[in-house]
Parts: sequence; C-alpha cells; structure tokens
Amino acid sequence: MKSAAAEARTASIFEPVETGHCFCGEIAARMTGEPFWICFDHDDDCRRASGAPLMVWIGYRPDQLDFTKAQPARFSATEGVVRTFCARCGTTIGYDDARLSGETYLSIGFMDQPERFIPTAHAFWSERLPWLELADSLDRVEGFTRPRNPAASHPAGCAASDP
Ligand SMILES: [Zn+2]
Repeated sequence: MKSAAAEARTASIFEPVETGHCFCGEIAARMTGEPFWICFDHDDDCRRASGAPLMVWIGYRPDQLDFTKAQPARFSATEGVVRTFCARCGTTIGYDDARLSGETYLSIGFMDQPERFIPTAHAFWSERLPWLELADSLDRVEGFTRPRNPAASHPAGCAASDP
C-alpha cells in the first residue's frame, strides 16, 4: 500500500499545472488541477474594476491556488466581495465573494496560457456592451452563473457583481 505522500505524488503527475503573472511580474501564481468553472462576465462592476469591455473569470478551489511571489493587494467596494490586483502595475488578478464558499476566481489576463481557458457561459448578459457581437452558442445568463449562499448575502440595494 502506498503512503499518503506517494499517492499525492502520483496524483500530481496527472494534474495540469497552470501559471499566471501580472504585467510587472511581482505577482505570480501556480494553479494545480482543472478549474471548475470558466465564464464570460459582462457586468458593470467588473468592467470598471478591470478596465476591459468584458471579463473572463476562471474558478478554482482555494487549495488549488498558490501565489508564488508577492501576495496581491486587496480592494472591496461591495460587501463580501474582494478584488485583488497588483499594487505596482495594476493588473486585475482575482475575485472572491463571501457568498461563494470554497471558490476563488482569477482573471483571464493574469494567465500565462489564456487560450487554454474556454468559457462555458455568459454572466450578466443584459449588461453587455451593445456593440459587442458574439457568435458563440453558450448560455446567456441574466445574472450570476454561480449560485450564491443567501446566508452570506449582500444588504438590500447593494450592487451585485460577477461570475
Ligand atoms: Zn504587477
């Protein structure tokens, strides 16, 4: 019978490892295993925070993600939601929501191989920019694509955001 450590090594051989880094290189990360969710996001909060017309968020479990250099800076404008970024170069890095226990999201632009992450749905479709034409056949969702835990919900009237 194999030891737990041997089992872990065996598993790691078959698990994909992805990496990411910010524009200046101060923040870098390694992600082990497959992400559980990838989606487009058209909501206004993400657009403003990222500066991009739309976002793609990549969902991992927190134990799949290791920041290997400096830790990203954190910012919250919405209760329960923390966005992370590089304090030096401003790269949008992550999104965490208290209502999404066990989920952490990384921006497509942070990834070293962004072409590998193929979105499977559109969140906040009605907030997309009107000139944006997308010919895919993915689900177009009017709000979140991930169910939130209402026990950790935002106060009424607080703008919701993201994946
Ligand atoms: Zn940076």
